[in-house]
Amino acid sequence: MNDIKLAVLGGEGVGKSALIVRFLTRRFIGEYASASGKQHVLAVCVALQACEGKSTLNDQIHWADGFVVVYDISDRSSFIKAKAVVHLIRELNLGVAKRDADTLVFLVGNKQDLCHVREVRREEGQRLAAESQCQFYELSAAEHYQEVVLMFSKMVHNASLGGKSK
Ligand code: GDP
Repeated sequence: MNDIKLAVLGGEGVGKSALIVRFLTRRFIGEYASASGKQHVLAVCVALQACEGKSTLNDQIHWADGFVVVYDISDRSSFIKAKAVVHLIRELNLGVAKRDADTLVFLVGNKQDLCHVREVRREEGQRLAAESQCQFYELSAAEHYQEVVLMFSKMVHNASLGGKSK
C-alpha cells in the first residue's frame, strides 16, 4: 500500500501543528488505520511567510498527495494568506502531474472555539472553497477532536483513491 503524503500549509500560528498532533496521537504516530489496512501518513507542516510563494510551493511541496490549507478564524490576515496559497496551488496545478484527477485541497478554518473574537465569517471560507474546488471545514484543534480526525481521514481516503476531492 502506498504512503500518503499530506502538506499542511498556512501562516504562522494558525494551528497546523496542533491539527497534525491531534490527528496522529490518537493512533501510532505516523500511522493511520483505514478500513482496508494500514497506510502510512506523513503530514508535514509548512509555515508560509509572506515573502514565499510560487517557488516554495513548486520546488518544495511537489511531493504532496494532498494539501490542507489552514487559517485561523480569529485572524483575518491568516485567511488572506490561505486564499493566496489556495490560488497558487490551483495556478501551479500542484499534485496533478502524479494523479489523474484534480489536486486535493481542503480549506480549514481552525480555532472555531474562538468564534466570539471571529474575524472571518464562515460564509467567506465556504465561498473561497467553492470558488477553488476545495472541501471546506471549520473546526477547532483544541476542542473538536472528532472533526479533526474526520477531516484528515477524508483527505487520506480521497488521496488513496487518486485525488478525487469529493
Ligand atoms: P502553527 O504555527 O500553525 O503550527 O500553530 P500551532 O499549532 O503551533 O498553534 C499556535 C497556537 O495556537 C498555539 O498556542 C496553540 O495552542 C493554539 N491553537 C492551535 N489550535 C487551536 C484551536 O483550535 N483553538 C485555540 N484556541 N488555540 C489553538
